[in-house]
Amino acid sequence: MSAVLVVNSGSSSIKYQVIDEASGERIAQGLVERIGEAGAGKVIHRGGAGESETQQDIPDHSAGFAAIVEEFRAAGTPIDELGIVAVGHRVVHGGSDFIAPTLVDDAVADRILELAELAPLHNPGHFAAIVAARAVFPELPHVAVFDTAFHQTMPQRAYTYALDRELAAEHGIRRYGFHGISHQIVSRRAAAHLGRPLESLRQIVLHLGNGASMCAIDGGRSVDTSMGLTPLEGLVMGTRSGNIDAGAIFHLLRRGVSVEEVDRELNKRAGFLGMTGSNDFRDVRAAAAAGDEAAQLAIEVYVHRARHYLGAYLAVLEGADTVVFTAGLGENGPDLRALICAGFEWCGLRLDAAKNASAERGARVISADDSKITVLVVPTDEEAEIAKQAIALVASG
Ligand code: ADP
Repeated sequence: MSAVLVVNSGSSSIKYQVIDEASGERIAQGLVERIGEAGAGKVIHRGGAGESETQQDIPDHSAGFAAIVEEFRAAGTPIDELGIVAVGHRVVHGGSDFIAPTLVDDAVADRILELAELAPLHNPGHFAAIVAARAVFPELPHVAVFDTAFHQTMPQRAYTYALDRELAAEHGIRRYGFHGISHQIVSRRAAAHLGRPLESLRQIVLHLGNGASMCAIDGGRSVDTSMGLTPLEGLVMGTRSGNIDAGAIFHLLRRGVSVEEVDRELNKRAGFLGMTGSNDFRDVRAAAAAGDEAAQLAIEVYVHRARHYLGAYLAVLEGADTVVFTAGLGENGPDLRALICAGFEWCGLRLDAAKNASAERGARVISADDSKITVLVVPTDEEAEIAKQAIALVASG
């Protein structure tokens, strides 16, 4: 048996899963929360003997990994007896440096920290977790899998902002795109579900979670995506505004709102949260159904923006073979899916209302039999993809 430890870390948390390579089965998983907060640390672990929750101070990521090792031992499944052959680390920003999963050495780790300049909320936590995990598991290969890497195939015309060339180059301003791990696994699984070669398909993937992005995929390669330099651009999200006229930012700054406040307003207090008071679509949906006009408008704005990109990517790909919905809202929002797809019959896209409304889980087709574009719902599984990419890299030597 061989397994991968998949690590998805933030500045104050470590999520982890041990995934069996052959079956994809979760051998164990858990979460370390509130690292660095005295009196608030918590470890939740599932696997072996069952589920456990431990309160304890976790001053830093090293203590977090020590606590994880202890949880495995206490559950009767010591981590060094699970056949783990690699550690896969999710890394949000790989800049232009990382176009594929990469074996972590000191130089790679340092570069991930330098890229914190582009992802200040994410990369420092990844770096801390990588350093700590390498110290705890020095004998295992550590592989960094980047959310940006899949989009490095975008053509220049799609990733270039129309700025002064020297300014853009000096500050690394270009579109990078995110959610690449999800767009990659979902597009591959959609092709597999249809029994068609990935290379033959033009796909449009809508990853609609708390964060949301769309991707135009030609033959398995990303050719355009809605997120940009940072995960702020593009679709309306749970707490992010998505696209906004950059002029609105100058306007706010000139009116005395600080840079930090503008950042917080656009990233943490906008989107569904800003428009309705809740970032969760279930609340927005319930409020809209009860007649709340702000919630109704928020859904209209959300749908309008997604349709905007759907039309754009039909143009970019010169048509499409599949449209694929994934992540929290994409997998659980038949109402949203119907609104987004409505009125695209002119290009051969027609949902089957019953299939769209079905409570079935798993990858499934929701378009009508005579729809020229096949619409699917495909659950995303970023951890499985990280495990797969890590093991492939290690196996290739
Ligand atoms: P993340 O981007 O944090 O990984 P997810 O992909 O899990 O998030 O999406 C979370 C969001 O999905 C929730 O905030 C909620 O808006 C939406 N969601 C989850 N379950 C449902 C559901 N049953 N119906 C509608 N929306 C849902």
